[in-house]
Amino acid sequence: QSVERIAAPQRNDELADLTNLFNDMLDRMQRYIEQQEEFVEDVSHELRTPVAIIEGHMQMLNRWGKDDPEILSESISASLQEITRMKSLVQEMLDLSRAEQVDIHYPNAMTDAKEVANQVFGNFKLIHPEFTFTLDDDLKAPTVIKIYRDHFEQILIILMDNAVKYSQKRQEVHLSISRDERNVEIAVQDFGEGIAPENIDRVFNRFYRVDKARSRDKGGNGLGLSIAQHLVESYHGGIRVESVLGSGAIFRVSFPIVKTLEPGESLLDLEN
Ligand code: ADP
Repeated sequence: QSVERIAAPQRNDELADLTNLFNDMLDRMQRYIEQQEEFVEDVSHELRTPVAIIEGHMQMLNRWGKDDPEILSESISASLQEITRMKSLVQEMLDLSRAEQVDIHYPNAMTDAKEVANQVFGNFKLIHPEFTFTLDDDLKAPTVIKIYRDHFEQILIILMDNAVKYSQKRQEVHLSISRDERNVEIAVQDFGEGIAPENIDRVFNRFYRVDKARSRDKGGNGLGLSIAQHLVESYHGGIRVESVLGSGAIFRVSFPIVKTLEPGESLLDLEN
């Protein structure tokens, strides 16, 4: 459905301004409605595949499950896998819808970027012993940014996860933490398959995957980078990517620095 605009009056300037303002609002509303419609379409499309797979397995079970133990166990485990996927899809969709304007809910949240980035780095080393992780931490002291800790962690995990997922040949990931006068920057670099120039602008779009089947194999829903981008932007940060196809990708996120902590100073002093 579409929202009808109002015809501008001929003479009265003030009234014309008001009408324009109102029409702008209607345009925005129209765009919002269209985005919602698109979202519902995307979601139903994404849910169709796992539902169809589960349906297929249920039909097999119904016909042959009682007599064939192999079909029984295969169909059950394949269905469970699809159910896990649907659960993660639902969780990620929730994360995405909550990722806009989160700063309103956590107006006083502060995070030490240095500490959290080091912690995420350590966790990835533990979880993926087959990978080589290297770290370049240029920050001399705890560096505070204005973001809820779990959200900052979530952004870094999405980027590190992707670096691991999309670099199976050369299993190396480099994390660097640096700053200039105003901003702290975290860069996650991998040396994997990279992203072609024609696809690079689309990786932040929801449900976009360069290779749908491969991402699906790795449990990807195409929502990670949209969630990361929404979170970063709602905390007034920036996120960008550079890549050379076949040589890897580097994702950079940056946030304005609130302050550097002096010895003895704590985050809690800032939050209150
Ligand atoms: P997912 O990883 O769940 O598919 P994302 O939104 O996190 O979804 O990423 C979208 C797509 O961008 C991925 O499917 C992949 O094609 C591409 N991509 C993301 N990170 C990288 C990376 N580090 N190297 C190469 N391609 C990447």
